[in-house]
Amino acid sequence: MRVAGRTDQGKVRELNEDAFGYRDGLFVVADGMGGHQAGEVASAIAVETILQADLSGDIKKALQTALETANKAILNQANRSEDFNGMGTTAAVLYLEKERAFITHVGDSRVYYLSGSVLKQLTSDHSLVNELVKTGEITVEEARTHPQRNILTRALGSHETLDAEILEIEVAPGDKFLLCSDGLSGTVPETVIKEYLIREDDPEVIVDQLINYANELGGADNITVILVEV
Ligand code: CA
Repeated sequence: MRVAGRTDQGKVRELNEDAFGYRDGLFVVADGMGGHQAGEVASAIAVETILQADLSGDIKKALQTALETANKAILNQANRSEDFNGMGTTAAVLYLEKERAFITHVGDSRVYYLSGSVLKQLTSDHSLVNELVKTGEITVEEARTHPQRNILTRALGSHETLDAEILEIEVAPGDKFLLCSDGLSGTVPETVIKEYLIREDDPEVIVDQLINYANELGGADNITVILVEV
């Protein structure tokens, strides 16, 4: 397995509220929100908590529990201080075990999957604009610049209960997974992401190129990318 991960502040934001991490086949990207640096706290709690998941038993249950634990940890922290009130975060999670991959997410951080020359988005954003796209009210292109594109319909830290779908797929050698925050997927077109994933071999190079390209397009948001090659 080859892995590269990087987070970048972008060119506009004063803070980087994204966080990412990985260990033993488990990968997490989180994009935090909330004032007074609370977004940074929320995304850090999410990554730290999810990476502690005990995946020795039922994997789907373990991932669900990890998300619930992260959700509670963020709510607890938010209740402790007014500065942290209303903080939350997205999470995009991948777990690879032999030829199986498990994918789950909350919010608008994404997991993409490249097999051969076919790129698939495995996650469906929990966002207002995605709801509008699904009902045909706006197009994917309009969603990119929609004034309410930052409104999430689900996030860690927003409700006591959490509902997360977990997807399981079979993988083959050479397959690639890309986890990212919306600083990448909301800026760089999917066709460009696909082109880079197919053209370049070295995961480090791909991650650097994608982040550089998002910055060339303005870098309006924090950008986080993890690339995993099976
Ligand atoms: Ca973001």
